[in-house]
Amino acid sequence: MSASPTALAEAAAAISESKSIVLACHVNPDGDALGSLLSLALALKPLGKEVTCLSEDGVPDILRFLPGSDLIVRSTEAPAFDLALVVDSGELSRVGVQVGPMVSRARRAVNIDHHVVAGAFGDIRVLDSSAASTAEIVYDLLQALQAPLTPEIATCLFTGIITDTGSFRFQNVTPGTLRTAATLVEAGASPPHISENVFENKTYAGTRLLGHALSSLSQTADGRIVWAHITAADFRQLGAIDAETEGVVNYVRGVRGAEVGILFREMDNGRIRVSLRSRESVNVAEMAQEFGGGGHRMAAGCTLNIPLAEAELALVAVAKIAVSRLFPG
Ligand code: AMP
Ligand code: MN
Ligand code: MN
Repeated sequence: MSASPTALAEAAAAISESKSIVLACHVNPDGDALGSLLSLALALKPLGKEVTCLSEDGVPDILRFLPGSDLIVRSTEAPAFDLALVVDSGELSRVGVQVGPMVSRARRAVNIDHHVVAGAFGDIRVLDSSAASTAEIVYDLLQALQAPLTPEIATCLFTGIITDTGSFRFQNVTPGTLRTAATLVEAGASPPHISENVFENKTYAGTRLLGHALSSLSQTADGRIVWAHITAADFRQLGAIDAETEGVVNYVRGVRGAEVGILFREMDNGRIRVSLRSRESVNVAEMAQEFGGGGHRMAAGCTLNIPLAEAELALVAVAKIAVSRLFPG
């Protein structure tokens, strides 16, 4: 499935008919969330639109290089908008408790997303769960709008694609992903420049945090479930923050024989953020949904309000059930 041409045309028409447009992405934004949001903002401004770019958690350090990142604000006083464009968010609540009501002040909302959606929302839904990234869907939308593809816009979209595909390594990559990426490079996106910023740019503290995570590595007897944690004390001791754990879970899933990799992070407020990754077999989005989270078949997450040790027991128990269904005996 790809996003329906009708939905793309409806979204393009809604944009054309609107003057004030609010854009929003999910909390703890990643390259796809901000790349998708900013590419739209950069394309819409020259069309004379008044754009407000909302990210409840701002812009993480490693994504500050994104063209237009200075457009991002955490809140707005504007009383109303003609249109809201919400990107990379499986449910409206994912934009955050502060930003949610601001987005709801728009007369119409467009949901542009590639999550395995249960909580689809919006008057117009431009959805494609087979897309590796929301950026690919935004690319199609910009084509429908006949918006010129500048090097800045191409950079934002390419960043969305490489972050959500782990540099074209993950199962979600399709020929379409690669075709769009090729077009973006032709339009001026520089793969080495973007990769340097996104992947070769870990802070010293963040790299040491990886060491702490890996020294906590555990596995089930059959080796099919592997997990690691980072405690609030680890964060404090190293002066690191959650955004610096990006990519750590891939080492956990990368262990030979692991069908499910789980990373637990104990936040300052005591909540536990959980990242889930699988290989082809286990649907980790279903696992995350059991805990009020969501995501994709092979990459999902949830947040728990219980102690770290209990969260580990709970998630590993659910992972065992999922794994035993697929690998009986
Ligand atoms: P992460 O492990 O944070 O990189 O997230 C992997 C995927 O799971 C992304 O597609 C997220 O949008 C989704 N996800 C992570 N945390 C949550 C959550 N608390 N609720 C819903 N979806 C989530
Ligand atoms: Mn995302
Ligand atoms: Mn995404």
